[in-house]
Amino acid sequence: MTKKQRVLAVIERLKKEYPEASCTLAYEDAWQLLVSVRLAAQCTDARVDQITPLLYEKFPSVAALAAADPSEIEAIVRPCGLGPSKARDISKCMRVLHEQYDDQVPTTFEELLALPGVGRKSANLVMGDVFGKPAIVTDTHCIRLCNLIGLVDNIKDPAKVERELWKIVPPEEGNDLCHRFVLHGRAVCVARRPQCDVCCLADVCKHAAAR
Ligand code: SF4
Repeated sequence: MTKKQRVLAVIERLKKEYPEASCTLAYEDAWQLLVSVRLAAQCTDARVDQITPLLYEKFPSVAALAAADPSEIEAIVRPCGLGPSKARDISKCMRVLHEQYDDQVPTTFEELLALPGVGRKSANLVMGDVFGKPAIVTDTHCIRLCNLIGLVDNIKDPAKVERELWKIVPPEEGNDLCHRFVLHGRAVCVARRPQCDVCCLADVCKHAAAR
């Protein structure tokens, strides 16, 4: 089975298993997704979703966050961990949106990537979820599952995994596939104790075949 055949089978199986594929972070506007994804580094999505309503109650817009002192942002986002750097990045990012983009989120990958605190993962997430463009979000679940299933060969670097996946995943499928990797990585293919016996991918998975 080639990697291309394997990934097409994985896409079909996971679609049946998880019909709803969407971001697990709560947001109403594109700029809020940028804030949430920055807060989600080394933190759970559930914790982020508890904190962001408190942040938006005090700072309900890009302009309000841009005008805030980073210490005021940090006081609220501290429970997400890495408070000082996350608050600093959010502050800088919102200031750029306010000053250069009229409070809007830019629509190209390159512009997103140039924003303070925005990496490839965040830029892809916004491209896919907000703008409906082809995107591949290589988070920890995606990287673990792709290596286990055999879609990549012992590659842990997010950018390299992304590059390999672009070669085999139909562009229009990438964004939803990555959301489904997260769901499957939480429910079945959990870290260090994958539940291969009940997994819908067992017959197309390299790890399961090698057991
Ligand atoms: S068969 Fe096992 S290792 Fe492969 S995806 Fe399923 S749970 Fe993960």
